Amino acid sequence: MAASSSIDNELIPLNTQRLLDSFIEILSVDSYWGNEHRVVELIQPRLEALDVTCSQDAIGNLIGRWPANGKNSAPIMLNAHMDTVQPTPKMCPVVKPDAIYSDGSSVLGADDKAGVAAIVEAVATVHEAGLPHGPIDLVFTVGEEVGQFGADAFDPNDIEARVGLVLDGGGPVGEIVSQQAGSYSFTATFHGKAAHAGIEAADGISAIAMLARAIDHMPLGQIDELTVANVGVVSGGQAANIVPPEATLVGQARGLDQTALDRQVATMQQAAEDAAAAFGGQVEIEKTCRFKATSFSPDHPAIQLADTAVRATGLTPSHMPTFGGSDAQNFNEKGIQTAMLGSGYLNVHSVSESMPHKALHQLTQITIQTILNA
Ligand SMILES: [Zn+2]
Repeated sequence: MAASSSIDNELIPLNTQRLLDSFIEILSVDSYWGNEHRVVELIQPRLEALDVTCSQDAIGNLIGRWPANGKNSAPIMLNAHMDTVQPTPKMCPVVKPDAIYSDGSSVLGADDKAGVAAIVEAVATVHEAGLPHGPIDLVFTVGEEVGQFGADAFDPNDIEARVGLVLDGGGPVGEIVSQQAGSYSFTATFHGKAAHAGIEAADGISAIAMLARAIDHMPLGQIDELTVANVGVVSGGQAANIVPPEATLVGQARGLDQTALDRQVATMQQAAEDAAAAFGGQVEIEKTCRFKATSFSPDHPAIQLADTAVRATGLTPSHMPTFGGSDAQNFNEKGIQTAMLGSGYLNVHSVSESMPHKALHQLTQITIQTILNA
């Protein structure tokens, strides 16, 4: 992270054909959650040929230790996830002049195989150029899209680095995610009293009425620039002629400011308790803070690492917040201070997903510069 020599800032020519071939090969396997071993089988032999020592943990994360070569710097972590969303019936990437697309029957899977391919190619490029670098920990996670299962199970003691970059930001290449929203899950189960809705309606207490009142009194949606909240599932009741004794709502809140986020969840809880009391019923609340909001200042080591690499690539870094979930949240929680690099993929989580060639090249160059400047 110190000022690097002028040699380090020379862009090393990429083997763009090899990068493309490798990317296509990785894209061509279906590696939805549970099938990430297909990516491991492709990249582990390549990494081992580059002197990276590889192992897998119990859940299937691929962990690579690349020892220092002539440079005594603190270890850093580079991460990308090997799984994709569905649909993935058969993966047939199509190379067009501007970008790589799927054939329209599946997602492309550049989210996050662009990150995987960029890391592998960056290691190969630096290795072949024989340039000095410090120790690098590579972590390729499983199950990110289904709920960050791999990063959640990851043991930080399996690596040495305590600063890292995740190549999985949804923005353009050069963008750096410096603020990650905290998140709460929120469930309220209302208890009323069942009764025949025709002949003894006055004896019943409707849990659905409580639920409706509660939602009506909850601030939801985009609360302000820092906070969002949602009720995503409601359930309850048995039949039209029974006053419903139970109803449940499942929601969440996310926020870039932890104090405002805590306040939002307290407001949701109060709305639920007030609604239950107003109808003479009860409510059970379950709220869990899944992640704390994190915010890195411009001089934070992870931001410096990313800024330096982006600038060395000839781009101008920009710092952005995200409300999205990512493996970076888990790494941060486990003591590995992690920012995210914009990966440049487009229309992700759809069959029109694409990865521009230029973005793939730039992402790989930024990864090379991260390795050289760490
Ligand atoms: Zn992703």
